[in-house]
Amino acid sequence: MILILLGAPGTGKGTQAKLLAQKRGWLHLSTGDMLREIVAAQTELGKQAKSYMDAGNLVPDAIIIDMIAARISQPDVEAGLILDGFPRTLPQATALDKALAGAGKAVDFAVNIVAPDEELIRRLSTRWLCNNCGHIASVQMEKCPSCGQSDFRQRADDQPDKVRVRLEKQKPPADMLARYQAAGKLCEIDGMQSIERVTADILACLEGVRT
Ligand code: AMP
Repeated sequence: MILILLGAPGTGKGTQAKLLAQKRGWLHLSTGDMLREIVAAQTELGKQAKSYMDAGNLVPDAIIIDMIAARISQPDVEAGLILDGFPRTLPQATALDKALAGAGKAVDFAVNIVAPDEELIRRLSTRWLCNNCGHIASVQMEKCPSCGQSDFRQRADDQPDKVRVRLEKQKPPADMLARYQAAGKLCEIDGMQSIERVTADILACLEGVRT
């Protein structure tokens, strides 16, 4: 199974990808996490990516496409793959198809999670991350419910001014959605529901798709 989770920032792609990866044993790749790693490691690519990320903009296709193509050529993808945050443009979707076709694979399904902007702004500006395990909480907690540590932070790009830029520039573009729709591989999910309900809806969409 190669599943793509699409949606504006804050729609819950990361949360759902983690849950589905746990449930089904698929590999979860988040391009946001991969980029934050190379930024922290201060690699040449990381330094280039940082300026775009800090401004709330998309990192150029050339950087992100090479990064993901190298990663999905590794053997652990064979268990099944959930892509969270990639592709975000039509050229990225085209490059993904090409990279997968080279290995005799193809995208099986794309799920687009949708929610109104006001809700996404509210979620992102009240989002706290556990520094130890990455658990996401909607309020600052004393102890992480997942690992028990007390070390929470907010993402720099979750500040309201950056959130507005991200929502303006990072919603799944219509041309990319149309590509998956035309292939009969797209389903839209209401991201205003509970986390459990969204997971159930995604799994219902995947029924009948090879898993
Ligand atoms: P995320 O954690 O998915 O919100 O991503 C954090 C930041 O990484 C985004 O605001 C973008 O700057 C960058 N990013 C992540 N995925 C992509 C992508 N597929 N294409 C371009 N930029 C990306």
